[in-house]
Amino acid sequence: MVKCQRNALLVAALLLCIVCASCKDEDTLVNVEKLIPGIVLDIRYATTNNFTGKQLYPVAKCYLRKPAAENLKLVQEDLHGMGYALKVFDAYRPLSVQKKMWEVYPHEGFVANPAKGSRHNRGAAVDLTLITLDGKEVPMPTGYDDFTEKAHRRYMDLPENVIKNRKLLSDVMRKHGFHGLPTEWWHFDFQNSEKYEILDIDYSAIGKGH
Ligand SMILES: [Zn+2]
Repeated sequence: MVKCQRNALLVAALLLCIVCASCKDEDTLVNVEKLIPGIVLDIRYATTNNFTGKQLYPVAKCYLRKPAAENLKLVQEDLHGMGYALKVFDAYRPLSVQKKMWEVYPHEGFVANPAKGSRHNRGAAVDLTLITLDGKEVPMPTGYDDFTEKAHRRYMDLPENVIKNRKLLSDVMRKHGFHGLPTEWWHFDFQNSEKYEILDIDYSAIGKGH
């Protein structure tokens, strides 16, 4: 009987370990607005002001995996010392929303195929720009989600100050582990983003068991 109880305890302990291992601290989705003072949100997919013309998110929230969110905080701190801050257009994106985007614009290079998933679906990519400390967007090559060549990082037929602004954003992001997508000046992938699984957690469910 005693042996039986001990075995049951061992099994329970083993199960607990498995649960803990699948829910590591660094996998947590963190509310970026709460973590990073002064960060501004302009979550376009929570409005109709995006390339689909539809509101795809029920609320204007911004979540990233914990290590990505903590590094973005360092970016904001560096920029603050230079008279700038961050404005975020998008971060974690549920897979179901990726499918809706793909229906509207099925072109890889601009919209990730939901069959493979986007790094946004992994909570490890962020779309953003620079603002001044009084909240004005600094001039960048294009608006958000511009699918032309002008949005490419190597596009150089631009005013000098625009090239300088794009480089500043890219340099500070890279310093803290974010790497830019060649075709979109506003998109950055966090280092080792592939290690995070693709998620389809609705915003209302974040923080409840995840
Ligand atoms: Zn993006």
